Parts: sequence; structure tokens; C-alpha cells
Amino acid sequence: MSTIAPAADLAARFPVHGDVQRRSDAARAEVLGRLSFGVDFTDHMARAIYTVGQGWHDRELVPYGPLRLTPATSVLHYGQEIFEGLKAYRHADGSIWTFRPEQNAARFNRSARRLAMPELPEEDFLGSIVALVSADREWVPDTEGATLYIRPFAFASEEFLGVRSAHEITYLVIGSPVGPYFRKGFKPVAIWVSTDYHRAGPGGTGAAKTAGNYAASLLPQDEACAQGCEQVCFLDGATNTLLEELGGMNVFVVDAEGSVRTPWLSGTILEGVTRSSVIQLLRDEGRTVTETQVPLADLLDDIRSGRVAELFACGTAAVVTPIGRLAGRDFDLTIGAGEPGPVTSGLYHHLTDIQYGRAADPYGWLYRLV
Ligand SMILES: *Cc1c(COP(=O)(O)O)cnc(C)c1O
Repeated sequence: MSTIAPAADLAARFPVHGDVQRRSDAARAEVLGRLSFGVDFTDHMARAIYTVGQGWHDRELVPYGPLRLTPATSVLHYGQEIFEGLKAYRHADGSIWTFRPEQNAARFNRSARRLAMPELPEEDFLGSIVALVSADREWVPDTEGATLYIRPFAFASEEFLGVRSAHEITYLVIGSPVGPYFRKGFKPVAIWVSTDYHRAGPGGTGAAKTAGNYAASLLPQDEACAQGCEQVCFLDGATNTLLEELGGMNVFVVDAEGSVRTPWLSGTILEGVTRSSVIQLLRDEGRTVTETQVPLADLLDDIRSGRVAELFACGTAAVVTPIGRLAGRDFDLTIGAGEPGPVTSGLYHHLTDIQYGRAADPYGWLYRLV
């Protein structure tokens, strides 16, 4: 059960400043009627500044809009940046909830430590989200599968070209009403396994949610697209033989007799909140779930022989996504018959039912925002 303060006690940490130009009901209805992913933004953003010697200050909620940065702003040169991604879900009674936000707050601080950035108190992380969603509550969609995607992030905003951790950090939270991540909906996707590129290596930043990991994934992602795949899956940088994860999603293997495997947290994998929730749900269904090494060669053999029944990827943005095809330089395999398998679809429904308030939440995963 979460022990975090209720939303009402946190919102005042980020008071509203500036004249907000709220868009009209008609303009908002137009946006909410044609949702895609990450192209529309709400009327406000939350902000705080950290200065060495002073700590965090100037917490506020301001109109969403362009930032003023000089060309020498440190992040533009050295990429000192971290981010998070979570969602606000509207329940049938109109209330608005988010999912395990204290996990995102804790991970934000783990990322901050790896990127030599200041930690943000949990009450500020949560307070900024509460303030934003509460001011922009009208932007939380009420249509099936739609949510308000929340993006907290922090970056080196000091004007300085020397190489060291910045003395000024800007923290921002923006909100984006989104439809389903994959346009085709809950349909199996094709994955390209990259053997030429890695997203992370031992001692690197793979376990942190930071811009550079995504920058490194874009070329292999283009390669995946050129091969007719939606996403790229990376192998470990040390041996180039072990399955790690996709650019922004963790990966799971369901064996024919119903047990489940996922790559263990080797230090180069991002620990997804969805990943840990999925592990819990599967174990509570009575399944064996092991966090282990998943060698690609064994996985391919097991898919060919039918010992593997389902593959899926998971993350906040795309929830649980079935993988129907796994391809690479010298293999191209189909899993399932173009349909999501029963374990994958069961999980998708169970998880989204909890998130949207349609199923019981025995874990205390939901946190009420509004
Ligand atoms: C964000 C992310 C995930 C998924 O994490 P969730 O907390 O489930 O959204 C997985 N892998 C990478 C590399 C990520 O950046």
C-alpha cells in the first residue's frame, strides 16, 4: 500500500503563476476527438529550478509554452537529462487516477543519481503532477483506451560549455492527451533484433531513463522500420547474445506450459513499472515467473519447436503489446497466428481494468489525482 500524502495536501506546492490562456471548449473537443500519441499538449506546465547552494526553488504552475534557452545551455551539448512517463486515467465516475506514481518518483531519483543530477523530493514529484492534472483536468480524455500522458523531466539548464554536472537544473512536467500508442490497437507487432547496435553497456546508463539511451536507439529503430518491423529489440552489449529489451519497453516470454520468463535486471535494462506490475499479476495468477538470462539462440529454438507460445512487450505508453514476429539478420519467425495469445490478452485486460477502475485494486496501485 502506498504511504504517500493525499493529492489535496500536495497541490499547493506548485501555485499557479501567469495568465493562462485556456483553450476554448470547442478547441479542446477538437483535439480530444482525434487523439494520436504525443502531438497535443495541455494548457499548463509545472516547473521548478534547482541551483547549487540553494536547492529546489520557484515551484510553480505556468502556461504551457516555449522555453527561453541560450545556445550555450548545457543540455544541448552534453545531454544531461532524465525523464519519466506515467498516465492519468479517467474513471467512469469522472475521478482521475494515476498508477504507482511513487515508483516513478523513486526511479526519477535513481536516474538523477546516475546522471549526476540533484534528487527531487517525492512530494515535489507528486505535487507537480497533482497540480498539473488538477488545473488541466478537462484534458483527461474519457474515451476507451485514451489517457493523459504525463511527462516529468529535468535537464541541465545552466549556460556553460565546460564539462561537469550543471549548477542549474530545470524540472518540468507537461501533459499530452493520447490515444493508443500503436495505431493498429491491440494487434501483434513485429520486432527486429539488432545485432549491430546496442542501447546500453556495462557501467553505462541503460538502467536510467535518460535522453541519450533513446538517441542511441533511433538508428537501429530506423533499421527495424526498414525491415518492416515496428520496434527494435536489443541484445546485451557485452556478449551480443542475451535478449535485453526494446527501445522503450521490457520484454517477456511465455512458455507453452504457461510459465513466464523475462530478462533479469542486469544493470543495462530499465526497470519498468509495468514490468514489475506484470510480474506481480502473473505470480498472483499462480504462474511461475523467472527473471533470468534469455539467450537469443535458445529463444529462437524454442519458438521453432513450439516450446514458446507467446512473446510480449510492456511499458506505460503501450501497456502490454503482443509480439507476433521476431526477425533478425538470419531469422524471421512468426509467433501465434497473428492473434494475441491468451496470457498476453489476459494481462492487458487485467492491467487496464485496474487502471481504469473496472477491476479491484488489491495492491493499492492507484493514486487519486482529482
Ligand atoms: C520507460 C521504459 C520502459 C518501460 O517502463 P515503464 O515504467 O513500464 O513505463 C522500458 N524500457 C525502457 C528503455 C524505458 O525507457
